[in-house]
Amino acid sequence: MIASRHIWLRAERQSSVPNYSRSSKAKLNQCHPDLQLVFAVVIQSWDNTILTGHRGKEEQTKKFLNGESKVQWPNSKHNSTPSMAVDASPWPIPKKWGKGNRNEYEKFRYFAFYVIGVADTLYQAGEISHVLRWGGDWDMDKDVTDQKFNDLIHFELRKPT
Ligand SMILES: [Zn+2]
Repeated sequence: MIASRHIWLRAERQSSVPNYSRSSKAKLNQCHPDLQLVFAVVIQSWDNTILTGHRGKEEQTKKFLNGESKVQWPNSKHNSTPSMAVDASPWPIPKKWGKGNRNEYEKFRYFAFYVIGVADTLYQAGEISHVLRWGGDWDMDKDVTDQKFNDLIHFELRKPT
């Protein structure tokens, strides 16, 4: 068995380790196994909540119409089965971060950097076959200042180019 799974299984036996709620687990189970593994490792070190796994047609249409999503059904990575995208927030969910509260806003970024690091490590170890694209850096150039649309809770799988 490969080292990262050892770490994950060892951590699962420690009672102080954060664990996903039933609701988070159900949403994560709708996602591709690569996303499941990334977040199974992340939860060992950083408490977080899974907000969305798969998203159906009605919900996607609603999100598109209110501007929360830029794409229509079935073009979101959340619309496939299994879902190729997951929305996750650090727990507790940062409050009033949209109202100019920079410190709360930064909690999303700090968490996302960690998630990307875990995914990169798993990819380098050959444990997952996709790379992770984050909604805070759509073009994956590691520059967060050239964004037109931030979706800081959004993580999706991509085939490496
Ligand atoms: Zn999303």
